[in-house]
Amino acid sequence: MARQLRELLEDSRPVKQSIVTLDMEGVLTPEIWIAVAEKTRIPELRYTTRDEPDYDKLMRGRLEILDRHGLRLSDIQEVIGSLKPLAGGKEFLDELRSFTQVIILSDTFEQFANPLLRQLNWPTLLCHRLVVENDRIVDYKLRIPEQKQRAVAALRLLNYHVIAAGDSFNDTAMLMEANVGFLFHAPQNVKDQFRQFTAVDDYRSLLTLIRSAASALELAAETCD
Ligand SMILES: [Mg+2]
Repeated sequence: MARQLRELLEDSRPVKQSIVTLDMEGVLTPEIWIAVAEKTRIPELRYTTRDEPDYDKLMRGRLEILDRHGLRLSDIQEVIGSLKPLAGGKEFLDELRSFTQVIILSDTFEQFANPLLRQLNWPTLLCHRLVVENDRIVDYKLRIPEQKQRAVAALRLLNYHVIAAGDSFNDTAMLMEANVGFLFHAPQNVKDQFRQFTAVDDYRSLLTLIRSAASALELAAETCD
């Protein structure tokens, strides 16, 4: 009887599943602000989280520059509408989503993301929202501070193994919070500061790393149980 009960408990023990969280810009799509800088010929808009780790300082600066040049939300949306995912990005995401769940965690905004999400076959995205009045971007609202890290922490509370990948300073807290973190397309200064994360630059390698990490985590969970 005791053995039957034990077998029953073993059969019903929760299986630890894996889930992948990905940054969007620089990993699946071009950097939106760099595209805007090129299209509008405003070089100051080229600064990204790769250059300025303080996101609020970066965003306040961007909004001030947009205002100074009279640029509206629709101007930016027009630029974004002309962008395409990075070469191979959609295929990578399709393949990834065929064997695991994927959530994109981005510090972009709802108003910017849609044209890119459409081209990526509508993956799940958690991001922020701009405050817009008569087409003028007057402010931005973070849904929650440190959302990437906190989303990963929440997923771990839901009994997921989290595998994360990103390219920039605003991803490193997410990578640290995850069970396994990878840098993808990261510039040298990010790689140098965060040597603990394996860094790769092509989708095939990233897929292989994610597959191996998912298998290793599953195996480790089985051994622990
Ligand atoms: Mg990025």
